[in-house]
Amino acid sequence: MTYDWLAALAFVATLVSLTIVIKKLVFRNADFADMLAQNKVADKPKMAKDSFRAAVKVNDKSGMYTNLAYFVIFLPWVVSLEARPIWLYFVEIVAILAIFDFMYYWTHRSIFHGNLMRRIHALHHQARKPSRMDAHYVHPFETFIGLCLFLFSLPIVSAIEGAPVNAFSAAIATLVFTQLNTLNHVWTKLPATNPLYRTVDYITGVHHAHHVDMTHGNYATLTMFYDKIFGTFEDPVNRETA
Ligand SMILES: [Zn+2]
Ligand SMILES: [Zn+2]
Repeated sequence: MTYDWLAALAFVATLVSLTIVIKKLVFRNADFADMLAQNKVADKPKMAKDSFRAAVKVNDKSGMYTNLAYFVIFLPWVVSLEARPIWLYFVEIVAILAIFDFMYYWTHRSIFHGNLMRRIHALHHQARKPSRMDAHYVHPFETFIGLCLFLFSLPIVSAIEGAPVNAFSAAIATLVFTQLNTLNHVWTKLPATNPLYRTVDYITGVHHAHHVDMTHGNYATLTMFYDKIFGTFEDPVNRETA
């Protein structure tokens, strides 16, 4: 094992630049731009409340410090710039996301909705009809745990592989993780004219079904795979039916 700071730097540069480029591309689409504008309107009265704004600020700080500490202390040990066959990049990305989603499913279901941290998680569940900023309206300790679960999935994949994960695979998996966790809170009803719009509506709809109150399923955050396997899947709700 080596402390590969260059690979860690490549990870951060890839993650930041891809995030900027993809956001720019997505919001050039008029329907997605409209979706963002509607969420800004929905977020405004929430952000006008001191308590909401303060909670978002503390949550974001918790995320930032957790990421910073991980990037400096752990990340350089578990990523490398070593090239691999194309298929292995895909396997690494899917493995990181699938392992995280499994760990998150059970943490969310048994700890956040169990007795141990139900009260902490209840803060996030105050959003019965979430909009974009509700992705940040999370108790800082819950954010710390959620992030640790994701970040821990990198060394797990690395241990299975017997080698550090490729920095670009890790960056793309992280991009998918961060964007899906925001997207699933977006309040939207896109025209069902193409598969991409229907997918976005599905992603938001299944997580909105989880937010109806604290008794609903759909505990996983990236896919509904584990909910379907473990019998906690619930049909999506959306702007029309919620
Ligand atoms: Zn929940
Ligand atoms: Zn949520």
